[in-house]
Amino acid sequence: MGKQSRRTRTSVGKQQPSQSALVHSFLHAAPDAEDPDTSEHTVRCGTVDVRVPPLIPNWTAHAHAVAHLTEFGWQNVEQTPTFSSADVLAALVDEQRRHGLAHLQFVDLTPHIPVDPGARHDLVIQLSNGWQREFSAAQPHRAAFYFRSAENTPAILGGFTRAHILQYKGADAARSVIRTLPTPAAQLFHRGVTYSFPSIFTQHSALFVARILLQLFSDDAYEETCTACRRPLYTHDGSGTIQVREFVPTPCKHGMHLSCRHTLEEHCQAYGLAPHCLQCTELLPPYTVPPLHADVVSTPSLKV
Ligand SMILES: [Zn+2]
Ligand SMILES: [Zn+2]
Repeated sequence: MGKQSRRTRTSVGKQQPSQSALVHSFLHAAPDAEDPDTSEHTVRCGTVDVRVPPLIPNWTAHAHAVAHLTEFGWQNVEQTPTFSSADVLAALVDEQRRHGLAHLQFVDLTPHIPVDPGARHDLVIQLSNGWQREFSAAQPHRAAFYFRSAENTPAILGGFTRAHILQYKGADAARSVIRTLPTPAAQLFHRGVTYSFPSIFTQHSALFVARILLQLFSDDAYEETCTACRRPLYTHDGSGTIQVREFVPTPCKHGMHLSCRHTLEEHCQAYGLAPHCLQCTELLPPYTVPPLHADVVSTPSLKV
């Protein structure tokens, strides 16, 4: 599959727009020409004709893509992790040993996602569906993931936008759904299930991400709990929907619900104590970072 994906990426790379002035004028002079690569076109979805944007966007820079995606309703498009998918893979190897999960094999698929702002918008969903099939129930010890980065955001969110337009049969309906969704930060494929993680998931550290990912494979569910109330920082129902409650990281690499952080501060103040982590007693600096989201739910996996 790795080889196949690389081939896909290479062939797509060759189709990236290098549109000459002649081709451009031809396309725009022919009112009936519906080239799905470069112009808006119609796709038959069941009994409905759906107008969809070109497969190859005319986004020439990442900032251009971010502006379009934000306008389309995606929140916090620029909220990408400060670490790389390779950092997560390295953290996973260390944590796997600690958790007795060394038999699991993780594959980092992030390098297969194009980083060009003009990357095709049908690619990520095709790859995603292929990966869901590849990392099937027949291979319980193998799992794979990709992470969204500043570079691959146009390909990922552009692809998700197209999928929503097809799924909800039109741009207006897609837009109103997308406005209510947290923006995905990562997908994980395991036993034929695609898990989608919201952006808040990657606003901590590679180590924290690795620990949460491993919880999907561990019987000690929800080890990553709030150090104040000991309730989980996230939940999942096994079908691919991950719920992450709003939390804040602590310098000691623990996590705390935002509401618990506020309560702790009030309690400590009332007793004349400095706010500290209830798990390891390390002192907590004043919390000033604005909240990222209210309680959020990940995007369900899309099949188009
Ligand atoms: Zn809590
Ligand atoms: Zn702590």
